[in-house]
Amino acid sequence: AKARAIVEEARQAGRSVLSATDVYTIFEAYGIPVAGWGVTVNTAEAVAAADRIGYPVVVKVDCEAIDHKSDMGGVAVNLKDAASVQATVEDMQRRLGHFGTLKFFVQKFLPGGRELIIGATAERGLGHLVMFGLGGIYVEVLKDVSFKIAPVTQVEAEEMLSSLRTAALLNGVRGEKGINREAVMNIIQRASQLLGDLPMIQEMDMNPLMAFADGAFAVDGRIRI
Ligand code: ADP
Ligand code: MG
Repeated sequence: AKARAIVEEARQAGRSVLSATDVYTIFEAYGIPVAGWGVTVNTAEAVAAADRIGYPVVVKVDCEAIDHKSDMGGVAVNLKDAASVQATVEDMQRRLGHFGTLKFFVQKFLPGGRELIIGATAERGLGHLVMFGLGGIYVEVLKDVSFKIAPVTQVEAEEMLSSLRTAALLNGVRGEKGINREAVMNIIQRASQLLGDLPMIQEMDMNPLMAFADGAFAVDGRIRI
């Protein structure tokens, strides 16, 4: 009900791209694990959010006009203290202020994960097409993804993981730990449930979903209605 209200409010306000607060609140409403986060508008708020979340943190520029944050130098990872958070926010205000009003998304830094992607697009007459694959920098290079129509069942979620050409990478290679497959499958199913409940979503993605041996967390999310 909360998720529906958020989407309805955005629609009525004529906003087609949901805010970071909206996106992460919707993910949380569906039990999709997300890294601890806060949306802030100045250095003092950013530092207070970082103190609450716990260091190290990531600071990301949050601005309607900026789509790919890291391309613009709008993502700073592994900030270890308040001074680094403050310096980062000031630096982004200086470099990126001309794009418009900036907010600063503060998030727990989760190092060492496997970057995966879950994406979805509304297909006329079909419902949502859900995509899963390797995320981050590998998406474009490897194009190793699998697709299912929502709703995605447990068996289909399992197939989405196993059918990747690089499926073996998910299980860990040469002694490195594999990822928690159950956690990832669970998130695919929860995302699919979310899409089924909110047919007005045109596009959604989690890129990356950070996967670890003991769980997985969305650290970047986008929803367009
Ligand atoms: P964008 O896709 O808009 O450039 P992201 O939020 O996806 O911005 O951040 C870019 C990259 O920074 C991610 O692909 C990931 O490698 C890294 N990153 C972002 N957030 C975190 C985090 N919370 N913990 C660890 N790494 C992160
Ligand atoms: Mg991203």
